[in-house]
Amino acid sequence: MRITVDSTVCEAHGQCGVVDMDLFPLDDDGYSAVGPDAEVPAGEEDTALLGIAACPVRALRVL
Ligand code: SF4
Repeated sequence: MRITVDSTVCEAHGQCGVVDMDLFPLDDDGYSAVGPDAEVPAGEEDTALLGIAACPVRALRVL
């Protein structure tokens, strides 16, 4: 499973990081540092989906 963030949409709400800071790292300004193509470790898919769903502006998605 791979995930991505649209950095033009992310508004630094940080809700993804609340779900899991390892899967959804934030930069120093609070914006998502997931990048354009991030691998989700095996077994963490459900947590990744929770983090994606937590984003209020739908900046995150599964590739
Ligand atoms: S991806 Fe969504 S929840 Fe995560 S920091 Fe950006 S706007 Fe906030």
